[in-house]
Amino acid sequence: MQVKLIDYAHEPLEKLYAAFRTCYSSESPIEIWQKIKSEKITHEKIRAFIGERLKTGHASPLEQVVFWFGISGVSRSLSHQFVRHRIGISFEQQSQRYVKFKENQLAFVLPQSWERAGLDDDFRKLLARTSELYEKALKAGIPAEDARFVLPNAAPTNFHVMVNFAEMLHICDLRLCVRAQWEIRRMVAMMRAEIKRVLPEIAVYLQPKCGENRMGYCDESLEDWRKCPLGRVRPHKSSLFELYERYGSQKAEALSEAEFKAVEEKELL
Ligand SMILES: Cc1cc2nc3c(=O)[nH]c(=O)nc-3n(C[C@H](O)[C@H](O)[C@H](O)COP(=O)(O)OP(=O)(O)OC[C@H]3O[C@@H](n4cnc5c(N)ncnc54)[C@H](O)[C@@H]3O)c2cc1C
Repeated sequence: MQVKLIDYAHEPLEKLYAAFRTCYSSESPIEIWQKIKSEKITHEKIRAFIGERLKTGHASPLEQVVFWFGISGVSRSLSHQFVRHRIGISFEQQSQRYVKFKENQLAFVLPQSWERAGLDDDFRKLLARTSELYEKALKAGIPAEDARFVLPNAAPTNFHVMVNFAEMLHICDLRLCVRAQWEIRRMVAMMRAEIKRVLPEIAVYLQPKCGENRMGYCDESLEDWRKCPLGRVRPHKSSLFELYERYGSQKAEALSEAEFKAVEEKELL
């Protein structure tokens, strides 16, 4: 698997700063950018301001920072999962209709669990037979779009992806969680490492959802939390409620219609 950050939006921290600042300032975006360009706003101020905003739920400015990735050698099993992300991300994926794979190009992804189970030879034999049949089908004039019907989930594929920072955070929330499948988890970890290489300031927010810079707790089942290696350092949501009930001023109860009314009328309970 190869994951490379091809490019990212020019001056990403400054863009984030100006986008957030525009919401909270009487100055126009042009005036804000003049201050950025003349360095009246220091780099430290920009970083500190962004850090504070990232602690809040005001997420739309994060959509103004964009990354482009080249990803290759991942399985079709991964790609089925990856393309389920539909907001803030654009994919171009290698076609099995237009690309006719040569036998030696079909470098199938072999999960280590097959090796651990001692079944990797059987796996390889089946894939070698599959490659042969695929080639035979092409030679017999079967179009690539039909020959590919014999290809398995292990078949390799490539992506050119554009993703914004808000969606990258969301993808990390879900796919760095140990509940995500290993291959997509590895790919997203590599995407994170690529961003960290060039923009460590914002890469620290790319965490699984239980990370201290995200929700901070696990909202998966208690059973999954117990099995998770991060469960030793991140709390489960049920333990937060237990603490609230033990040390909070009130018992956590279901919201009543009276509470909804208070929210509606902005009254304090
Ligand atoms: C551990 C795990 C197991 C999974 N298992 C399965 C499975 O068994 N079967 C299966 O089919 N899928 C499964 N999925 C895929 C999952 O259901 C989502 O399709 C996938 O994670 C994409 O995420 P997203 O829906 O948040 O989309 P994204 O595009 O990443 O969403 C971005 C954000 O926009 C919001 N959003 C997007 N579209 C809409 C909309 N139309 N209306 C309102 N809000 C929207 C989302 O709520 C989210 O906050 C699994 C995912 C994970 C991580």
